[in-house]
Amino acid sequence: MSKIAEALDTLRSELPADVSLVAVSKFHPVEAVMEAYEAGQRLFGESRVQELLQKIPQLPDDIQWHFIGHLQTNKVRQIIGKTRLIESVDSERLINLIDNESEKAGVVTDVLLQIHVACEETKFGFSPEEFLEYFAQGRHKMLRAVRIRGVMGMASNTTDKLRVRNDFQTIHKLYLEIAENVSEYGLEDFNIISMGMSGDWPLAVAEGSNMIRVGSSIFGLRQY
Ligand SMILES: *Cc1c(COP(=O)(O)O)cnc(C)c1O
Repeated sequence: MSKIAEALDTLRSELPADVSLVAVSKFHPVEAVMEAYEAGQRLFGESRVQELLQKIPQLPDDIQWHFIGHLQTNKVRQIIGKTRLIESVDSERLINLIDNESEKAGVVTDVLLQIHVACEETKFGFSPEEFLEYFAQGRHKMLRAVRIRGVMGMASNTTDKLRVRNDFQTIHKLYLEIAENVSEYGLEDFNIISMGMSGDWPLAVAEGSNMIRVGSSIFGLRQY
């Protein structure tokens, strides 16, 4: 068995059945993706548009691609219709653009709203206040070709487990705030909470995650 297949086996044996595993293949060659595919993996995550567009035609059609990186507004059009889920919608401007382009293309795009709670570098994402306000004011109701399926978030990059747990709890609370009131907000299928990566996914799952995004534990260190 290949190292990648072994790593997937181990992960699957540890993961509750109702948690989806997104294999994050960014910076890894198509050969590595193929190894995971042959081990049964169908759900993959990429964080750069260029890399995603290069990989898609080289790999099997039944792969479900999630986009998980910061999406620049000038690249939106290029990935419309190519993803199963855009997990990293980090601003209202971006979601409105995805909506426009999806409508023009005649497709419906499923997305998650990225929530920013972590203390550091990446400032991308809705703050908790912006997130709640967005729904409370009903601004999501203008979307015609986007379905908001849930939330995505990252915990602070720290060894302080309390801090990490606290970040996941904050994201979970915000998720429930909407998920428990879907009929009030006029939402359908708002049921995904994507949190947890190689270093912190067990904690994320303990705090309510039902989708984890794991790269280095499957593929090893990034190759380019
Ligand atoms: C790279 C990345 C991951 C995977 O990180 P690993 O630590 O390699 O598991 C998960 N989520 C996002 C948004 C990423 O950019």
